Amino acid sequence: MADDGARFDVVVVGAGNAALCAALSARDAGASVVVLEKAPAAEQGGNCPYTGGGFRFTHDGYEDVRSLQSEPAEAPPQGVSMAPYTADDFREHLTSVTFGDVDHELMEVLIAQSRPTVDWMHQKGVEFELPSSSRLSAGVPSVIPNTVALSAARSGPGLVQMLTSASRRNGIIVLYETKMLRLLQDGRGKISSVVVQDSDGIHDIQCGGVVLACGGFEANQEMRIKYLGQGWERAKVRGAKYNTGDGHRAALDVGAKPFGQWTGCHATPIDADAPDTGVLEVTDAMPRRSYPLGIMVNVSGLRFLDEGEGFAEQTFVKVGRLILEQERSLAYQIFDGKAMPHLEARYGTARGTKADSIAELAATLGMSAGILQGTVDAFNAEAHDGDYRPRELDGRATKRIIPPKSNWAIKLDAPPFVAYAVTGGITYTYGGLRINTDAQVLNMEDKPIPGLYAAGEIVGGIFYHNSLRAAGLMHGSVFGKIAGANAAQV
Ligand SMILES: Cc1cc2nc3c(=O)[nH]c(=O)nc-3n(C[C@H](O)[C@H](O)[C@H](O)COP(=O)(O)OP(=O)(O)OC[C@H]3O[C@@H](n4cnc5c(N)ncnc54)[C@H](O)[C@@H]3O)c2cc1C
Repeated sequence: MADDGARFDVVVVGAGNAALCAALSARDAGASVVVLEKAPAAEQGGNCPYTGGGFRFTHDGYEDVRSLQSEPAEAPPQGVSMAPYTADDFREHLTSVTFGDVDHELMEVLIAQSRPTVDWMHQKGVEFELPSSSRLSAGVPSVIPNTVALSAARSGPGLVQMLTSASRRNGIIVLYETKMLRLLQDGRGKISSVVVQDSDGIHDIQCGGVVLACGGFEANQEMRIKYLGQGWERAKVRGAKYNTGDGHRAALDVGAKPFGQWTGCHATPIDADAPDTGVLEVTDAMPRRSYPLGIMVNVSGLRFLDEGEGFAEQTFVKVGRLILEQERSLAYQIFDGKAMPHLEARYGTARGTKADSIAELAATLGMSAGILQGTVDAFNAEAHDGDYRPRELDGRATKRIIPPKSNWAIKLDAPPFVAYAVTGGITYTYGGLRINTDAQVLNMEDKPIPGLYAAGEIVGGIFYHNSLRAAGLMHGSVFGKIAGANAAQV
């Protein structure tokens, strides 16, 4: 419970990866630190527990990262190869997925500090392991090589647990079910206190510096509509229900500058039966990304996208968005008997609708048999004979239908036909606050707001259009560490 008028050198808002790195770093600098967590202890950490815990950092290959592992093997397990990951690799990957829009100053700090930050986390007690080789997504058409060297031991939940234990060992206080409401400034404009709400009421906590590390606005329906657009109100939230943009709003209220792609987010096609917000035990099994191996239709039975534009990793963010724009934000992925053996394993958790003919399938789905049959006939008239080769862009394309299918356009003609109902799931948002390389939050004139720092998903300018796998946790840790150290000096 927060004591009214209590004072800490540093107040950290949130108790996920970025926040706890900030807290530990502030403690390293000798500050008294309190961490405010809106969720109960069992749900601590926002989106962090939903991740696989992967960290993208520069390294020289397996030998170089061996000592970071909780149970290091002499050599990488069979089938796992780990080429060095250089600063140039990191730069090229982040620049290319964001089409060059990434903020270059922040990117350079992220890259340069990635490895030192991982080493520092390890010294604090975070153990790492090789990413699981038996990933649930095995079977998805895929070309992207594994450039994620290590994951936190026991993935996202393990990461939260290790960082929380480290925080306790270092004398950091974590207040659960304590929500940051707003920030107050003194006469000079410096953040002087944080107004919080807990079961006991509303309190002021006086502070030196404040680090906002309270995630994105993906779980806030009103902000999704406002910034992402129509259709997003119906998105399934893949992660925590607690990330409701509180930090964005509190910072904007004291003049912070919005930055990055506020209209952008990470999304995915997801099972229409997925829970409305994340449930740890099932979230990872919900994405439905084998659509390149079939066709996708809306509730009227019409195709609305090029299912084979590229590998699923290259298109699923866009596809999640396109589904949300359809009537009832609902679509059906339809496969035939040839495609079914190639679907990713997590379709095993889906409730498919099976039929021996397209007409029967349409009737069961409640759509016009004539329209769906017409869609399949038009597709088959241009599609190719043969089997699927999911791991290569096979170039078997349609020529005249709109929308086209650019790869894997194989005739849908081998019963049984199976349809899976899908909608769009939101993972996290891209837009946030503008920070400088010291993690200070900037105002509309690009001047630091005294005493205010930010790290993690709340920071804008890193991801645009797409995100880079395992760079989210990494930038949260890098800028969390910087934010904590600097907030301790206020
Ligand atoms: C399903 C899924 C898979 C993902 N996979 C990966 C991956 O493999 N690799 C990767 O790098 N990233 C991944 N991400 C993204 C990753 O989760 C984020 O990059 C990362 O968790 C962001 O960290 P953060 O510390 O900024 O925020 P979070 O970890 O979300 O923490 C925010 C914290 O703030 C708290 N909070 C919110 N509002 C308040 C308030 N008003 N007062 C007090 N506390 C508040 C929350 O309860 C939470 O503790 C994934 C996300 C999801 C949903």
